[in-house]
Amino acid sequence: MKTKEIFIIAQMLLPVFMLANIPIDSTKTSNNKVFTVVLDAGHGGKDSGKYIARTAEKDIALSVVKMLGKELEAHRDIKVVYTRTTDKFLELYQRADIANNAKADLFVSVHCNAAAATSAKGNETWVLGIHRNADNLEVVQRENSVILLEEDYEEKYAGFNPNDPSSFATNLMIQEEYLDNSIEMASNVQTRFSADLKRKNRGVKQAGFAVLRLSYMPSVLIETGFITNAEERAFLKSSAGQKKVAHSIYDAILEYQKNRDINLFILDQVDTGSVDGAVPFQTAADNAIYKVQISASGNKLAPKSYNFQKLPEISREQDGSIYRYFTGNFSNLADAVELKKQAVAKGYKSAFIVVYENGVRRRL
Ligand SMILES: [Zn+2]
Repeated sequence: MKTKEIFIIAQMLLPVFMLANIPIDSTKTSNNKVFTVVLDAGHGGKDSGKYIARTAEKDIALSVVKMLGKELEAHRDIKVVYTRTTDKFLELYQRADIANNAKADLFVSVHCNAAAATSAKGNETWVLGIHRNADNLEVVQRENSVILLEEDYEEKYAGFNPNDPSSFATNLMIQEEYLDNSIEMASNVQTRFSADLKRKNRGVKQAGFAVLRLSYMPSVLIETGFITNAEERAFLKSSAGQKKVAHSIYDAILEYQKNRDINLFILDQVDTGSVDGAVPFQTAADNAIYKVQISASGNKLAPKSYNFQKLPEISREQDGSIYRYFTGNFSNLADAVELKKQAVAKGYKSAFIVVYENGVRRRL
């Protein structure tokens, strides 16, 4: 994290800590975690992607990805991994393998759109989902069709038919786990495109893209515009246009990363609520439920294990403008004590146990 960002966040938190009269512990203001993002320039080599008026999708995708990567690399806490930096052919599963091996936090695939109607324009960002309709099936077929260029595709994709995304079945649950995060990232991209570039926002869409399907992390596929539309083609071919597109995606990634970081700030020191008046280690009722509070923040995050260092059984409760996040759900205090140790080891240094008695929560 850059010093400037730490400073801004520290400024945001300062009044909170002053209010609680607790000195700021610098170990709690940054998790020092490297955020790994995989940038995937769609197509390449013998696969040009869409090719209209001497404009190849693969070239635009590569230029945008290189510009985007350069901007991201200026951040010391961001690691950029590229699926390709040259005009080479890569099979879809290889792209996903690169991302999986890098244990990436985010996978971003960059593409250009095409349509029979030259009037079609705007940006759309795709996440993997099970909802399909005739509209998105067309885009899916186009982006997945590269599989037919690959050798032995039947073997590699285990009977996957590029023209029928529903033929995927095995790994759907894994991407579903990351769906909330993928949608959050996709929304960031769409928001930046319409706010910064004043482009037509075609929205966040869900479909069964192979490249998203095979990656085990939040993943998006960005259609940066239509190369079948003369105006958008000129924009996407120009260096200035590519730079703008890259910068919008850059902003969207930083916003996504920032949300992951804020999540790790431990604000439990300001915890009041049901804690007031509670006697420490007071014996709980027989039917008590124990959880470990790991975080409290103004950010509403999906209560998914992935968002919380893979801790189990995440739950979320809202208290006014603050969201509290918990791990575990035990009838046995010893289990909660054990899980609290794990949470502390994973960076939630001031995690604490809460107990619910007759639906009322208090801190132990
Ligand atoms: Zn494409």
